[in-house]
Amino acid sequence: MIEMKDVWKAYPNNVKAINGINFQVDKGEFVYIVGPSGAGKSTFIKLIYREEKPSKGEIFVDNTNIAKIKERHVPFLRRRIGVVFQDFRLLQQLNVYENIAYALEVIEEERDVIKRKVMDVLDIVQLKNKARAFPSELSGGEQQRVAIARAIVNQPEVLIADEPTGNLDPETAWEIMDVLDEINHRGTTILMATHNKDIVNTIKKRVIAIESGRIVRDEVRGNYGYET
Ligand code: ADP
Ligand code: ADP
Repeated sequence: MIEMKDVWKAYPNNVKAINGINFQVDKGEFVYIVGPSGAGKSTFIKLIYREEKPSKGEIFVDNTNIAKIKERHVPFLRRRIGVVFQDFRLLQQLNVYENIAYALEVIEEERDVIKRKVMDVLDIVQLKNKARAFPSELSGGEQQRVAIARAIVNQPEVLIADEPTGNLDPETAWEIMDVLDEINHRGTTILMATHNKDIVNTIKKRVIAIESGRIVRDEVRGNYGYET
């Protein structure tokens, strides 16, 4: 499903963020990406949704080498990979419904189909009653659930979450994990970069640890393995 073969990434300022990574994730897996700040986690994730291109190596999502695809094909890749961030990144001037529908409007989906798909994902994140609310009227946890709904509305094979609980209090973080677990059980592969030790050590999943741009640990039901 996702595979990296000898992937390297140096930024234009010569910072070597990823230094020879090989790994493979199967369909339906849930993987935590852990490691100290500056280890290369965000870069690793950005390479998978083609926010960054590798300096060297191959990255496969399904059978597409995404390091090779042309710029104009990137939007098609983004439909197969949903992304959520620590800071939600909702469009403030649009309500919940519109934030989610936007991803479908750009691909010119039919009105009825849009409505059904948006209501379906709002049901999954349990926010049907907030469809008309604006982001500023929602709690952090609710905003993250909207961001997750937006990320999965195109039914991507992969959901990537970069510190999705980083801005949330512990209780709300657990609620977000319930939502991600539900999405994973429906068949979506999930990669989640996190600093949340309690979550990683409690909801046991595969753990990949990155340090200095290298994979230093890859365990089936791993621990967080750092003090904080
Ligand atoms: P993490 O997510 O684990 O904190 P990052 O992938 O953000 O790590 O960063 C890895 C290294 O690459 C760090 O040294 C960071 O300063 C550097 N870096 C990240 N993004 C850029 C960029 N756009 N330009 C230059 N250096 C960067
Ligand atoms: P930008 O170029 O500023 O990142 P985009 O036009 O790519 O903006 O995306 C618009 C909004 O949709 C942004 O808030 C972004 O975070 C979000 N977004 C982009 N791609 C995805 C994706 N694959 N899954 C979920 N949200 C996405």
